[in-house]
Amino acid sequence: MNLPAKVKVAFYWNASCGGCEEAIVDLGEDLFKVLEAVDIVFWPVALDFKLEDVERLSDGEIDVAFINGGIRFSEHEKVVKLLRRKSKIVVAYGSCAHLGGIPGLANLWTKASIMDYVYLKAPSVVNESKTLPKEITQTDAGDLELPAFLDALKPLGQVIDVDYYVPGCPPTPNVTLKAIETLLSGKLPPKGAVLGASARALCDTCPLNETKPEKLAIKEFRRPHTFIPDPKKCLLAQGLLCLGPVTRGGCEAKCIKANMPCTGCFGPLDNVLDFGARALSFIASIIDQRDEEGIKKALGPIIDLVGQVYKFSLPSCPLRGLIKRKEV
Ligand code: SF4
Ligand code: SF4
Repeated sequence: MNLPAKVKVAFYWNASCGGCEEAIVDLGEDLFKVLEAVDIVFWPVALDFKLEDVERLSDGEIDVAFINGGIRFSEHEKVVKLLRRKSKIVVAYGSCAHLGGIPGLANLWTKASIMDYVYLKAPSVVNESKTLPKEITQTDAGDLELPAFLDALKPLGQVIDVDYYVPGCPPTPNVTLKAIETLLSGKLPPKGAVLGASARALCDTCPLNETKPEKLAIKEFRRPHTFIPDPKKCLLAQGLLCLGPVTRGGCEAKCIKANMPCTGCFGPLDNVLDFGARALSFIASIIDQRDEEGIKKALGPIIDLVGQVYKFSLPSCPLRGLIKRKEV
């Protein structure tokens, strides 16, 4: 696909923390180079665009739409479907759009129990009248409408057709820049490719890789807050659950350099369907215990195993429809 000299670009966010919007600004001086090459036609976080500005565009008039965040509200669905229609290329930008991200862990609970906890039961909530948000509230001035809270969070690709993915929570400046350069070059990779990151595991390029033992044998995992790890030694070898061996590389080992284990925000390698299952099978392969008691002991310090292995990807799990959802 040949892109025009001045590429029309849109940015939008759905259910996310805002870090992916910050990541665009984190390009620093390179942002000015990007701005020279593009014409921003929609970026509600930073510029005063309205939805009508997008509606007025012809179908396919936006060259690239970068969409971050998962889809949790009816408004998200509406806007991303509109952006899909108006855009030649849609990029799912960041972990939440790519795989569901951290907000996707809420899919372990029913929609009703999330509302119940957030508005009634959370320790910091004072709500004596037990008011819950309603989609329609009638007032003397007319009906007030709120977007509907959907049954579960979905990554972008489960709602609209996505052309490319940019991984990370959030994507690093280098990854973002490489992805933009690829898109502007006009030499587009096959549809569905992950842009800007590496095809190799993070572990392969980790500065601590040479200290990683050939064979790992963990008797018992350790929690990061219980000791200060040796910054010159593989964190996994020190008992910290580092998911670098099963995570896509390209982040420049940001967490490892801060003496923290990788929790997998860049997602799975090519051809891995389910990051959590891959992570679990990796964990099983390095536990040096033989019986059930021993395995329980090894995993004991991992308080929330699902939250660890599916931290960024629960809504993408192929078995998601079978998960029995919890009540608070
Ligand atoms: S610290 Fe993590 S990413 Fe680095 S070598 Fe060890 S297991 Fe691999
Ligand atoms: S080390 Fe892991 S969790 Fe940290 S930024 Fe890189 S991929 Fe993400």
